[in-house]
Amino acid sequence: MGLHKNLFLLSSLGLLMISLGCNRRPYHSTNKSYKKQTKQLARTIQQTPLKDSIATGNWVGTTNFNLRKPNFVIIHHTAQNSCEQTLKTFTTAKTQVSAHYVICKDGTIHHMLNDYLRAWHGGVAKWGNNTDINSSSIGIEIDNNGFETFTDQQISSLLTLLMTLKKAYSIPTANFIGHQDIAPGRKVDPNVYFPWKRLADSGFGIWWSDTTNVVVPPHFNALQALRIVGYDIKDSIAVIQTFKRKYKQVEDKTALLNEGDKKILYTLYKKFE
Ligand SMILES: [Zn+2]
Repeated sequence: MGLHKNLFLLSSLGLLMISLGCNRRPYHSTNKSYKKQTKQLARTIQQTPLKDSIATGNWVGTTNFNLRKPNFVIIHHTAQNSCEQTLKTFTTAKTQVSAHYVICKDGTIHHMLNDYLRAWHGGVAKWGNNTDINSSSIGIEIDNNGFETFTDQQISSLLTLLMTLKKAYSIPTANFIGHQDIAPGRKVDPNVYFPWKRLADSGFGIWWSDTTNVVVPPHFNALQALRIVGYDIKDSIAVIQTFKRKYKQVEDKTALLNEGDKKILYTLYKKFE
């Protein structure tokens, strides 16, 4: 009886230790899956000659190349309630969504995918004539439900991360944009609480300054200006709402541009002329 009791206690202790061990490494199995998938991709790019090439028989490998680099940074809010929830979402295969980085409320940055690989964060999107934003961008998700301010720690971590990325990949200032910018009408993130001006002041993204002395030409075409900035103007109402959400930080369903709005847009547009 005593022996059985001891055995029972020992096995319970063992189970407890196993379960504690699992909790300490909750992403052990998905990390293994990450490794396996990167190995498969490595095999794809190591093929010589290239299997599916139209010129397989004439393969001559060049000696001069490197990896393609990201040229955009897309900023998102997670629209979820915790960092843990987002990490779970991005490590669950059936969700089919991911990002390179996730920034928690306490400023912790989780790196989830090598910057050279393609994350699934943009969805159906367009910026200028670029219709495959995922292939050329880094996706950063910030833990925020969309209706709350971002924490100082998050923004400070974000700025450090952006500085590193901008330098590492020579990303142009204007190419730091939000998810809503590349998907007007479909997405609103990072929404009205995101401090775009503070980012622009640090060299990430564009912003406007005092418009008191700005004179908008009489035939100024607002939609064409938005197109030149980069927006897909197919849905003219959605794109104006997107513009206001970002540059005036308001949710405005009217989709009308007053003189003040036009001045702002004109100063932004002039940066691309
Ligand atoms: Zn998003």
